[in-house]
Amino acid sequence: MQFSDVEADLSEVLLSQEEIHEKIAVMARQIEADYAGEKLLLVGVLRGAVMVMADLARELTLPLEMDWMAVSSYGAGTQSSGVVRILKDLDSDLQGRKVLIVEDIIDSGLTLSWLLGNLRSRGAESVEICTLLRKPDAAKVEVDVRYVGFDIPNAFVVGYGLDYAEKYRNLRGIAVLAPHVYE
Ligand code: 5GP
Ligand code: MG
Ligand code: MG
Repeated sequence: MQFSDVEADLSEVLLSQEEIHEKIAVMARQIEADYAGEKLLLVGVLRGAVMVMADLARELTLPLEMDWMAVSSYGAGTQSSGVVRILKDLDSDLQGRKVLIVEDIIDSGLTLSWLLGNLRSRGAESVEICTLLRKPDAAKVEVDVRYVGFDIPNAFVVGYGLDYAEKYRNLRGIAVLAPHVYE
C-alpha cells in the first residue's frame, strides 16, 4: 500500500520506502562489523517489527537465526500503559547466545527496558537492541539502544509494520496518522 491509498488518514509523510531501505543497509553494515565471526540470534518483537526484521535479516551477510516474541503494552490506544504482558514467548534457548532485539519503535522505552531485563535474565551472552525509530521520550529512560535508524518527532506514526488498531501495517513508508482518525 502506498501513501496515496490512505492519503486522507495521514497528516505528514515521514519516511519513504527508499529512505527506510537505505538506513537499514547502513545499520546492517554496523551490525556486521560488530558481530563478525559470531552467530547472531535476531529476536523480533511482534507484530510491529515484522517488516524491519524481514528487511534487516535479508540485508545482513552474517549467519543468523530469527525468533519472535509478542508482548503487549498498548492495548488498542496510542499511549503506552507501562504494563507489559508476554503474549508469545521465544522458542529458542538464550543460554550463551548473542541476541539482538529488533524493534520498530522506541517511545517511552517501557517495553524495551522490560524486555532487555527479561532476555538478559535467561543467560544470553549479550543482548543488544536495534530499532528503526526512536521518539524523544525514549531519552528519559535508561535503555541502551545500540542501533537506531531515525529519531522522529513525538507524533503517532503508522506504516512499515506500525499499526493503528491493526491497520496501516502494510503501508510501504512511514507517516504521521491524522488526529481525526483516533480522536
Ligand atoms: P514504548 O513502550 O517504548 O512506549 O512503546 C513500545 C511499543 O509501542 C512499540 O513497539 C510500538 O508497538 C508502540 N508504539 C509506540 N509509539 C508508536 C507510534 O508512534 N505508532 C505506533 N503505531 N505504535 C507505537
Ligand atoms: Mg514494537
Ligand atoms: Mg500497535
